[in-house]
Amino acid sequence: DSEVHASNVKQFEKYFPACAHRLMDGLEDHHHLRYTGRQQFSLFLKGIGLGPNEALKFWQMMFTNGPGGITIEKFNKEYKYNIRHTYGLEGARISYKPWSCSLILSKPKPNKQEYHGCPYRDLQTDNLTALLKRMGMKDDGNLQKVIELSDSKEYQTACTKVFEVLNAENIQANMSKGLNVMEAQISHPNDYFNRALLYEN
Ligand code: SF4
Repeated sequence: DSEVHASNVKQFEKYFPACAHRLMDGLEDHHHLRYTGRQQFSLFLKGIGLGPNEALKFWQMMFTNGPGGITIEKFNKEYKYNIRHTYGLEGARISYKPWSCSLILSKPKPNKQEYHGCPYRDLQTDNLTALLKRMGMKDDGNLQKVIELSDSKEYQTACTKVFEVLNAENIQANMSKGLNVMEAQISHPNDYFNRALLYEN
């Protein structure tokens, strides 16, 4: 199923950049995300094609399922408006755009209980290493290079490197078929997602 629904978001996680992975991890661990994380992640999900009704189902499921989850009544009372607002269905009815890397990097850094931001900037080396391994990076020179790029504040170059390593086979296959492969640096989480999906197909 190539369409994104509330129940299959997880299936698309392999195309997520590190920032979206971290938000998904935080949401799964805590059945909650604070305001900025909700904004960043719900707009990313909107950008990958999760429609407003499916988005409401997804957030309700994530916030209410499992130990520590809230009730559906509480979700409807406290969070439903916020999700609908993201889609321009409430308030000023502005349909907000998914955040670019530079917008994400311009926001205040996440504190301990927050998961928004860019992991290449915000995570300590050991936590960043663990996240990258969960994404499929091997413990080798490439991972070391990504850590070095992050330490030198070259976050988008680090992200692009991860993209190239994780999608190496598909990039190679596209090149050998003579198809165009974009070489521009990743500058938007949804661009990372779209490229990963494109190269696989
Ligand atoms: Fe996300 Fe951009 Fe950071 Fe990559 S560089 S993890 S896409 S914010």
